[in-house]
Amino acid sequence: MEPLKVENITVAYHKKPVLMEVGFSVPEGKLISIVGPNGAGKSTLIKAILGLVPRASGTVEIYGKPYRSQRKLVGYVPQRGEVDWDFPTNALDVVLMGRYGHVGWVKRPSKKDTAFAEECLDKVGMSAYAGRQISQLSGGQQQRVFLARALAQDATIYFMDEPFVGVDAATEKAIITLLDELKSQGKTVLVVHHDLQTVPEYFDWTLLVNKRLLEAGPTESVFTVENLQKTYGGRLAFLKKGTALVEQ
Ligand code: ADP
Repeated sequence: MEPLKVENITVAYHKKPVLMEVGFSVPEGKLISIVGPNGAGKSTLIKAILGLVPRASGTVEIYGKPYRSQRKLVGYVPQRGEVDWDFPTNALDVVLMGRYGHVGWVKRPSKKDTAFAEECLDKVGMSAYAGRQISQLSGGQQQRVFLARALAQDATIYFMDEPFVGVDAATEKAIITLLDELKSQGKTVLVVHHDLQTVPEYFDWTLLVNKRLLEAGPTESVFTVENLQKTYGGRLAFLKKGTALVEQ
């Protein structure tokens, strides 16, 4: 069964539609990129799927059932900029928050939950920073903590909003290793991704979005110059002959 099926999603902010009639489904166990120009509605699409912004229309099914009954299967990594990093908490506690779906809000996390959270921090190379205030972490370290939190959720389908933005090369590598690991466990990961150059290398499947869904399918068939031009219009720059690489 498909991990995600979206039908006819329309979202408007202040009556101005930013996403129109978006529908697609994705295959299980794949790394999926959501690609399109700035302001195309990529973040809004994720938020609309997760019920974080109101939809004017549309339905979302996770493994054949409405999202609200499948919440525990879903992990979310928001954009780093959307989080208050001055909030006084340490890295381990942020990761433990990922376990709340499992332990419940009122219960204290068990030793097992704490051990699992520590394991998740270790997976992203951040065990040494468990007790560090999150305001004292670099951008790349904050991103790793966020990914550890998503791992701690032990979800089946993940949504990540621009996880590669503003991270150093080592963190980028750590993230892609993690994505590959999630995939090898049969998990499905949707990632809003900005760097066109790495799309074919990192992602099996691609959704091209610009207010509408323009294309969806295996990256090798969807990620063509023609489709990218359709998606980006005049905003696409050609760095190498015949290769569309960056948004202007
Ligand atoms: P992307 O992720 O592709 O850059 P977004 O989903 O962030 O695009 O934004 C899509 C459009 O919706 C943009 O024009 C943006 O300015 C607008 N928008 C996003 N969030 C809000 C909001 N909370 N209120 C009003 N407009 C918004």
